[in-house]
Amino acid sequence: MPIATVNPATGETIETFEPLDARQVDKCLARAEAAFRHYRLTSFPQRSAWLKEAADVLAGEARELARTIAVEMGKPVTQAEAEIAKSVRAMRWYADHAPALLADEPADADEVGATVALVRYRPMGPVLAVMPWNFPVWQVVRFAAPALMAGNVGLLKHASNVPRTALYLGELFERAGFPPGCFQTLLVGSGQIEGVLRDPRVAAATLTGSEPAGRSVAAIAGDEVKKTVLELGGSDPYLVLPSADVDRAARVAVTSRTQNTGQSCIAAKRFIVHADVHDAFLERFTAGMRALTVGDPLDEATEVGPLSSERGLTDLAAMVDDAVARGARVECGGRRPDRPGWFYEPTVLTGVTEEMRVFREETFGPVASVFRVADIEEAIGLANATSFGLSSNAWTRDQQEQERLLRDLESGSVFINGMTASHPALPFGGVKRSGYGRELAGHGIREFCNTTTVWIG
Ligand code: NDP
Repeated sequence: MPIATVNPATGETIETFEPLDARQVDKCLARAEAAFRHYRLTSFPQRSAWLKEAADVLAGEARELARTIAVEMGKPVTQAEAEIAKSVRAMRWYADHAPALLADEPADADEVGATVALVRYRPMGPVLAVMPWNFPVWQVVRFAAPALMAGNVGLLKHASNVPRTALYLGELFERAGFPPGCFQTLLVGSGQIEGVLRDPRVAAATLTGSEPAGRSVAAIAGDEVKKTVLELGGSDPYLVLPSADVDRAARVAVTSRTQNTGQSCIAAKRFIVHADVHDAFLERFTAGMRALTVGDPLDEATEVGPLSSERGLTDLAAMVDDAVARGARVECGGRRPDRPGWFYEPTVLTGVTEEMRVFREETFGPVASVFRVADIEEAIGLANATSFGLSSNAWTRDQQEQERLLRDLESGSVFINGMTASHPALPFGGVKRSGYGRELAGHGIREFCNTTTVWIG
């Protein structure tokens, strides 16, 4: 994939970039190593001050950056601004909370025959972050903020279709006062990742993206015995049971499925609805999907933009065509609108069965499948009938049902009576083929720490 800014609303190539060559990559790794040597000795108050400054700079430049995002990957500009605001909040959150999250944890010294026994969280070194285009600022910040607070330094390999955003982020932290080399963008293609990952100066890696990309990075890191965190795809279920507030569930379902034009790992993708409320839900949900404003991402009224790439559009359209050919019913959408760019109409499918691609694969676009089930047993069975396990959503006011869902849904998070969203104070990550390890909260910041046992006799 060439490193280029191509406007998904028009298909026009705006700018292409030369990837770094081996010598330039080597120079970046040397800078990272040198930076870590000193940066790891800086204090929490110092790191917090730099991170808060970076948050202020980002907040001040949000409008302009949001337009860059809209042009690079097609996110509606108001949603890009919201993404940046959320990133700013996460930076401030880690600046405030990291010292407590990484404080020494005393153990019972007597029990282990010591005068002092504790756990100390020490940084690991340069961490490589392989990041996707779908939340091009948020995904990076949710890695960078905790990594920098922990005393690590970052190397960003961003997706090839968001180079301007990548370069912006590569400069942001230094502009805010972090020492040179603490956070660098490596403008490289995915073929250059192996060399970087195998380099002894790189301590660990985190990847957010597709399963094949995750598998490749994890295999190389495994071969080098380096720690990885993987946040891969999802096909989150969204259960609606008889005691649910069906109106709200249908309204939130539209947002959850179509936010970021449906290109979100934690978007609800499979709507599993009890027969008692199925027709009411389907009617309201379909009406909501139909009413969405599809348009130019730079227009503030736009709710659904184009898909980020032509390949994304082709894949999604092929999945819908496959479902229809095998007997699925199109309740709305199901086609490209008549306009240039990589747009796809918000789509609702019913009659989806196991052999269809939309059942098994991640639908990375505004396409929903709605299923009718007879009871909670069947709902849970269908919810878990996927290789993914990122998050689950369920709507029920029945406490016993809530407990049952918390026990049986196979996913890294369970959101009841609301849609899945990430928050700095809550860990984020999946099970099964959605990956392993956690981002955010204390769990996330400790992933890339050397959890050091301290015993003093
Ligand atoms: P990719 O997984 O290909 O891209 C994500 C990142 O991984 C990019 O930086 C990419 O670089 C890099 N990458 C790709 N292949 C490799 C590799 N073999 N080794 C190392 N790094 C690699 O996602 P796509 O953009 O191709 O999207 C495909 C599908 O992935 C989507 O339809 C969706 O299902 C899923 N996805 C999930 C995301 C999530 O949030 N969990 C985010 C994005 C995609 P480069 O751009 O240079 O190829």
